[in-house]
Order: sequence, then C-alpha cells, then structure tokens
Amino acid sequence: VAKYEGRNRFSYFTHSLQEAAQTRLKLIKDLRVALAANQFRVFFQPILDLSTGCIHKAEALLRWEHPQRGMISPMEFIPLAEETGLIIEIGNWVFRESALWAKRWAVQGREDFQVSVNVSPVQFRDEGNHIDTWLTYLQTLELSGKNIVVEITEGLLLHADSGVIDKLLKFRDADIQVAIDDFGTGYSSLSYLKKFHIDYLKIDQSFIHNLETDPSDMALSEAIIVMAHKLGLQVIAEGVETAGHRQLLAAAGCDYAQGYLFSMPVPPEELETLLHSGFA
Ligand code: C2E
Ligand code: MG
Ligand code: MG
Ligand code: MG
Repeated sequence: VAKYEGRNRFSYFTHSLQEAAQTRLKLIKDLRVALAANQFRVFFQPILDLSTGCIHKAEALLRWEHPQRGMISPMEFIPLAEETGLIIEIGNWVFRESALWAKRWAVQGREDFQVSVNVSPVQFRDEGNHIDTWLTYLQTLELSGKNIVVEITEGLLLHADSGVIDKLLKFRDADIQVAIDDFGTGYSSLSYLKKFHIDYLKIDQSFIHNLETDPSDMALSEAIIVMAHKLGLQVIAEGVETAGHRQLLAAAGCDYAQGYLFSMPVPPEELETLLHSGFA
C-alpha cells in the first residue's frame, strides 16, 4: 500500500509541476501583449516627510490588470518580465508615465515633488541606450531630474560593472536621485555606500513590521538611520503600518515614511486629490 501511495503522490507532484510550468508559460505569453493591450497602470504610494507630515514624494508601483485573472501582483510578473527581457520595454513605459505625472504635479505648484521609480538590475545591465532616451524625454517635458528618484537594489551595486556605473553617473549628472530599496535584506556589503553616490536608504519593511516588539529590529533601524545621516544620506522607512511605528521612527530621526498607515498605493488621480487635500 505504501508503495502504491508513494507512486500516487509522485504522479500528483509531477502533475502539479507541469501545471505550474503551463501557468508560467501562459503568463509570459500574456505579458508579451499586455503593454500594447493597455493592461498596465502605474499606481502611486505617498511618502511622507516625518517632520512636517506632508507628502513629499510618491513611489510608482506597476499594476497589471489581467483580462481573465484580474490584478496580478508585481511580485509575480516582474520576475517573468526580467527573465524574458520584457522589463526593458515595460520599464521604459513606467518611466515615461511617472515623469508625465511628476510634470503635471510640478505644473500644479508642486515643483519640489518627487516620483520614485523602481528600476530593475536587468534594465541597468542592458546594453541599450534607454537611459539617454529617458533623459531626452525629461528635456522634452521640461522636467528637472530633481523630480525623479530611481530605486535600485543592493545587489546591483555589488556587481556594478562599467555599464552600471556609467548609468548611475548619467542619473547623477541629470540631478536624478538614487535610493537603495529594501535596504538591509541584500548582501549588505556597506563599502558600496562609500563608492557610489546614493541619496536615500529605504529600510526594508521586514525591519519595520515588529519595531514595537522586537528590540533588535529597533536597534537595526536606529543604526541604519545614524549611519545614513553620518554619510549624508536620508532614510525612508517602508511598510509603516501603525502609529507606533511612525512615532518610534520619528523619534529615531527617520526622514520619510511610506506605508498603509498613510495610504495604500492608489491611482494617480487619487494621489492628486491627496496632494490637494490638507494631508499634503
Ligand atoms: P518595493 O519597491 O519594495 O515596493 C514596496 C512594496 O510594499 C509595494 O508592493 C507596496 O504596495 C508594499 N507596501 C507598501 N506599504 C506597505 C505596508 O504598509 N505594508 C505592507 N505589507 N506592504 C506595503 P507591490 O506594489 O506589490 O510591489 C512589489 C515589488 O514589485 C516592489 O517592491 C518592487 O520591487 C516591484 N515593482 C513594482 N513596480 C515595479 C516597477 O515598475 N518596476 C520594477 N522593476 N519593479 C517593480
Ligand atoms: Mg521600491
Ligand atoms: Mg522596497
Ligand atoms: Mg520590495
């Protein structure tokens, strides 16, 4: 009986593996047409200045409205877009879309407002000249690079070849700021903070989640804030969900915060309403 069950379990296992592979292939196929079919939207999540309580920036977060499956999380489709190289075209679209909204809000009187865009290591390592195209696009819009922040990962800087360094320098020359996303979860070689010009560290939400109960998470967050300030960088806390988180981070001198306590990522029109309300 045991042998029989074992074989059954094995065939169940291979069957579900096959199913997973098929789902994946179908999703890649759908991803190839999603941009042309207008299925993407950029949402924005406000980032508050903790000393004033004002919305100072917003992170652009990509949303995919799949015709059959509904909203699909970027955690699911970004890796596929990276593997297939589709992230290049999608990422170019996200950049243009983000810049357009930043321009609109600047014209509405928020010249200081920044839109923060996630840029994948695959985009950085690509040989194409899309960064030049981005900069030309900003010129065409007459939008300063100061209104854009680029979010990169720690891993990118660990293996930064001349192509990556070149792109970082181009951003810097254009006054575009650079943030390290999910700080503290990567390979955490701190030497790159000295080597590259970085403007912000974004403390990963896994450190924020238990801030009120776990003294070591509090200690790590405080240490990141002190280190960043000594290096001349500012700090954004991600995943701020409670008034307690906010209070502890403000007391620790954290500069900015982002999280469900303030707002979920929302459609651009809704962010605009927030910007015009007292909240901003
Ligand atoms: P990320 O850049 O670290 O973005 C923050 C994620 O945390 C977002 O998830 C956001 O919705 C979520 N979040 C915000 N506040 C809270 C909170 O208080 N609690 C919790 N539990 N979560 C919160 P989202 O939108 O699902 O995006 C997931 C990841 O997908 C992003 O992580 C980013 O790495 C990637 N991503 C999203 N849009 C893009 C894009 O346009 N390009 C690239 N390359 N990656 C993107
Ligand atoms: Mg991010
Ligand atoms: Mg993050
Ligand atoms: Mg993340």
